[in-house]
Amino acid sequence: MLTNANITHMDNKDEAVMRKRQTKPEWQSRIARERIEILFNLAKKEFKKHPDRSKRYVELARRIGQRYNVRFPRETKRSFCKNCNSILIPGVSSKVRLKKGTVFINCLKCNKIYRYPYS
Ligand SMILES: [Zn+2]
Repeated sequence: MLTNANITHMDNKDEAVMRKRQTKPEWQSRIARERIEILFNLAKKEFKKHPDRSKRYVELARRIGQRYNVRFPRETKRSFCKNCNSILIPGVSSKVRLKKGTVFINCLKCNKIYRYPYS
């Protein structure tokens, strides 16, 4: 009697774990996206006064994106430096140049250069 109950219980648990892995609930990525947006807004707001805090927000946002498999929208993806996590503000923390249909974005913190096709 007792053994049977235990087996049933375990079976149910395994099934629940399997189901969780197969399909990620929609609300999970929605909340992840919301959190990422909040963190990026904070990062932009704090950038001038607290650059270190700002970097930390970007770092957290990127970590959430990785964990929940959430891709950043294009503008968000280009608004921070993937090398040093600093927010890229043209004229403040980045240099933007257009050359032959390509946008060059230069991070002034770590000197990394990003290239994007201009559209
Ligand atoms: Zn950088």
